[in-house]
Amino acid sequence: MFCFQCQETAKNTGCTIKGVCGKPEETANLQDLLIYVLRGVSVYGEKAKELGILDKKTGLFIAQSLFTTITNANWDNQRFISLIKEGLKNREELKAKFLTAYKEKNGEEFSEQLHHSATWYSDNEAEFHEKAKEIGILATENEDVRSLRELLIIGLKGVAAYADHAAILGFEKEDIYAFLMEALASTTKDLSVDEMVAMVMKCGEVAVNTMALLDEANTSAYGHPEITEVNLGVRNNPGILISGHDLKDMEELLKQTEGTGIDVYTHGEMLPANYYPAFKKYDHFAGNYGGSWWHQNKEFESFNGPILMTTNCIIPIKKNNTYQDRIFTTGMTGYPGAKHIPDRPESGAKDFSEIIELAKKCDSPIEIETGKIVGGFAHNQVLALADKVVDAVKSGAIKRFVVMAGCDGRQKARNYFTEVAEQLPKDTVILTAGCAKYRYNKLDLGDIGGIPRILDAGQCNDSYSLAVIALKLKEVFELDDINDLPISFDIGWYEQKAVAVLLALLFLGVKGIRLGPTLPAFVSPTVLNVLVDKFDIKPTGEVEADIEAMMAGN
Ligand code: SF4
Ligand code: SF4
Repeated sequence: MFCFQCQETAKNTGCTIKGVCGKPEETANLQDLLIYVLRGVSVYGEKAKELGILDKKTGLFIAQSLFTTITNANWDNQRFISLIKEGLKNREELKAKFLTAYKEKNGEEFSEQLHHSATWYSDNEAEFHEKAKEIGILATENEDVRSLRELLIIGLKGVAAYADHAAILGFEKEDIYAFLMEALASTTKDLSVDEMVAMVMKCGEVAVNTMALLDEANTSAYGHPEITEVNLGVRNNPGILISGHDLKDMEELLKQTEGTGIDVYTHGEMLPANYYPAFKKYDHFAGNYGGSWWHQNKEFESFNGPILMTTNCIIPIKKNNTYQDRIFTTGMTGYPGAKHIPDRPESGAKDFSEIIELAKKCDSPIEIETGKIVGGFAHNQVLALADKVVDAVKSGAIKRFVVMAGCDGRQKARNYFTEVAEQLPKDTVILTAGCAKYRYNKLDLGDIGGIPRILDAGQCNDSYSLAVIALKLKEVFELDDINDLPISFDIGWYEQKAVAVLLALLFLGVKGIRLGPTLPAFVSPTVLNVLVDKFDIKPTGEVEADIEAMMAGN
């Protein structure tokens, strides 16, 4: 196996025996084969689009399949085998349609030689494992070509996850799906470095559009997030813990648990569900339990009740954990031995009754902390406070905004983000989104004239909100360049959605981003030089020096 898609990859080079995340070799290889099959589907998809015969079904399948390969999303080999088979079936159907349409249009058979990912076929699982060994990441020998192709594929995975969330709420755009295929098909071609860099930048543009679509989907379904105090303690009823990012699952779980005597708590990246008006109205929505994803072995244990994982991040259950029978997956997630809640039927809801029945037999959660945290500062809420914020900047009460969005992770080096938050001057405001916030969102950093010093916009996809806020400030201060704002970017990354967010920021013209705790292993020295030259990207460094530089606008 070879996988280097996340920040915790072995020796910051690549996992080769087993993932640091726990991903076994067999799973890694099946994920590689699934990507290979998707590249083949995309070769035909790109051609079918030229003839106007592409439907949304293939695009959604590609988005969902890419989503399953994100770090800590799906650990179920059988699911990957099913998706590989379904992908090959989709490709053959698309091929048949394309060949017919081509002949009709051109009066002759299609005879172009296609990339092997578009012609390889097998329905034999043993062959899947053999083939997977030939077509992994290292099959691309040139380090820079590999780096640019993987940077693109990794960014696409993030875009795909956001596209799937939007589709679940009925918001789909054909041009997003078409780009997934164009980009995947591009990895089967011999492109120049400039062409590959251009494709990566286009991925950033599509990431912005996809996050905007998801923002529209979320806010039209559930209202605009608003300032909210979230309870961290527990009540006496049994509870269900819901994690991941899927708000439709949240909605259906809240509806189905109403009046049952079961409370619902969020974990990890589901925390921002507390900020939505449509969810706040439920009395049995009790607050948030615990911290970011990597604490789950401990926190799922003490929660006592069932846990519903709607998306990543799921981490392997340890030998001494007892929650194997209490953890459920749904959507694109999966875990061997965990019960998977099937998709909702057309115009219906998912059936969470088994989880609810189990919760009734469980003890209530053990309290692990008390108090409240404040969040809900997505673009609509912040823009409602715009006058106050602008006055504070003009009067000098706010000297600088520091965007510390992204992911959390296990490495000790991530204390950097806690220390930056603690040591930033009192006239700075931290803008955050994603689970990176758990490194500092329980610190008491106070406020500036009533504006809290940590403004949490929501999940990682709500980084879009942070971009909207920055663009609005640029307009209010009549600046030509977003980089002239008193704003610095100090981003923590872990998995592939954060890469999509990073590419989105680059597309929006943001320069001088600090990225940590390490730079991605999939960026080769040559590609890094391009990123440094064009965007002045730099690694996070020493806390004091970084704060000094940021305060000086560097
Ligand atoms: S997802 Fe990360 S930790 Fe897991 S195998 Fe890949 S690079 Fe390694
Ligand atoms: S921000 Fe990234 S690392 Fe954090 S829970 Fe979401 S997907 Fe996982």
